[in-house]
Amino acid sequence: MCGIVAYIGNKPALPVLLEGLKRLEYRGYDSAGVALLKDELILLKTAGRVRVLEEVITASKAPLDATLGIAHTRWATHGEPTDENAHPHTDDQSKGHGIALIHNGIIENYRALKTYLEERGHVFTSDTDTEVLTHLIGELYDGDLESAVQAALREVTGAYAIAVIVKSEPDVLVVARKGSPLMVGVGKDEYIVASDSSAIVAHTTQAFTLDDYTVARLTRDSFRTTTVDNVPITPQVRELEFDLEQIELGKYEHFMQKEIHEQAQALRMCLKGRADSREGQIVLGGLADLARTLVKARRIIFVGQGTAFHAAMIGEYLMEDLAKIPSEVEFSSEFRYRNPIIEEGTVVIAISQSGETADTLAAIQEAHARGATTLGIVNVVGSSLARETDAGVYLRVGPEIGVASTKAFLGQLMTATMIAAFIGRRRFLSNEYVSNLMEDLEAIPDHIQRVVDQSDHIRSVTERYISRENWLFLGRGYNYPVALEGALKLKEISYIHAEGMPAAEMKHGPIALIDHGMPVVFVAPRDSQYDKVISNIEEVRSRGGHVIAVATEGDESIRDHCEDVFYVPAVPEPLQPMLTSVPLQLLAYHAAVLRGKDVDKPRNLAKSVTVE
Ligand code: GLU
Repeated sequence: MCGIVAYIGNKPALPVLLEGLKRLEYRGYDSAGVALLKDELILLKTAGRVRVLEEVITASKAPLDATLGIAHTRWATHGEPTDENAHPHTDDQSKGHGIALIHNGIIENYRALKTYLEERGHVFTSDTDTEVLTHLIGELYDGDLESAVQAALREVTGAYAIAVIVKSEPDVLVVARKGSPLMVGVGKDEYIVASDSSAIVAHTTQAFTLDDYTVARLTRDSFRTTTVDNVPITPQVRELEFDLEQIELGKYEHFMQKEIHEQAQALRMCLKGRADSREGQIVLGGLADLARTLVKARRIIFVGQGTAFHAAMIGEYLMEDLAKIPSEVEFSSEFRYRNPIIEEGTVVIAISQSGETADTLAAIQEAHARGATTLGIVNVVGSSLARETDAGVYLRVGPEIGVASTKAFLGQLMTATMIAAFIGRRRFLSNEYVSNLMEDLEAIPDHIQRVVDQSDHIRSVTERYISRENWLFLGRGYNYPVALEGALKLKEISYIHAEGMPAAEMKHGPIALIDHGMPVVFVAPRDSQYDKVISNIEEVRSRGGHVIAVATEGDESIRDHCEDVFYVPAVPEPLQPMLTSVPLQLLAYHAAVLRGKDVDKPRNLAKSVTVE
């Protein structure tokens, strides 16, 4: 689930590994560790941050000049975040060969394997599923690490990205994956393996992604890839898409702040070459082959989790408004375990920033198995979802590092709007309507910038309410999912309790929570439900709640109904979420900073959730 970095080459491995781990820190983790192999296998690991690992390394007397090593940041799934449970794991406790292994993911059948191995004399010192895989490889090891790894992986179920070394083969690094991302950076006489390209780009921009059930055996000057059944395969080495600057903080204090501030530019990239207002055309190359199928679609089901789920909710409204196709939205995790009815003409659209969200991937596999056409709206090029869907559209908003999604969310909304208009245009939308819509879309980036520029004002309002432990976020129509997203942002990075809901739903229970001074954020731009929202605002105020409104520029009268206002430019209703969500991102960001929280590494969270 979390971070893997491995190195084999002619340089000292340790600095490359530590730098790589730091680049992966944003993904969230609880322990860190490294194994180096030269004449000896050196293992150093600890619960806590990479900087604690650095202290452990400094304190160790071991020689650290090895040119082969593996390093890991763990996000615990099996066993608490302790020193013992941190990776790498070895098979050294009993009958060991000096195998060291790091693993992202979950070995689902680890219990049965553990019992089997214990019967054969293996002794375990951690609670992890990972240690079981390490011993299994040890059990099968017969002088050839690659074939032992292949054999072991044929026995396991679950998800893994692994990197393995063994004392008796100091010139070999074996890596493999199934269901958890892993790439191999190809340098000159060196390879850098990582779970995320941000740990690779400082060294090389040439890389290949491993397919599921693939094993790579790397030496300093060559590699070979096979399936777990030892069938040779040739991976495609490609140029990595982004450069170092995109993943550095630059003048910003936090990645989330940087990503909020670069949203205008990110959405320009998302739109570039796709929307043409003069021609009334939407060019989505990724959908060209499927255009006829999409036009004839009878039902669209959006799936996603977290922020992507909120984007999916807005996708549903967009699809109904612009394409007039019956649409629904569901958590991927629920969809896959129900008995979803997929009829002819059902299209399932998955939304995920990373393209690796385990639940969403599984939902797409389920949808496929039942005969649906599948589309992906993802950010990471070449990710699992991008590869497993029939077609899709990339967000092109650049790498998102902050755990709390911001620019990817806006990119998802922009992309969903373009897809809905792409289909609608081929069904019944007039050239003129689409031209106007495209013009409105092209203006969105500048509008976003206007909202971002109010950051200081949003900070000072947030400061006034910062001691409040309970917040409500309310909205209607397109702005109901925005309210949900505003509440999610606040809780995930500032740990303040917040709930979002449709404004009208408040009266059916949650209104009981409102007491004197409770902050209630209303997403209340001028739209078809404006008057109703104003009534809801009054209901809150008459019970002592303090209202912060997100309103349309020029709406002076709303000041009579609320304590504070964040203004956004006027745009047509379907496009409002791309603006109304921005003040809420800034509110959450400032709340977290004011409370002294680690904005980019919120507790217990990981950037992409690659376990179910
Ligand atoms: N399941 C493994 C563990 O709990 C790996 C977790 C991870 O992906 O970091 O140790």
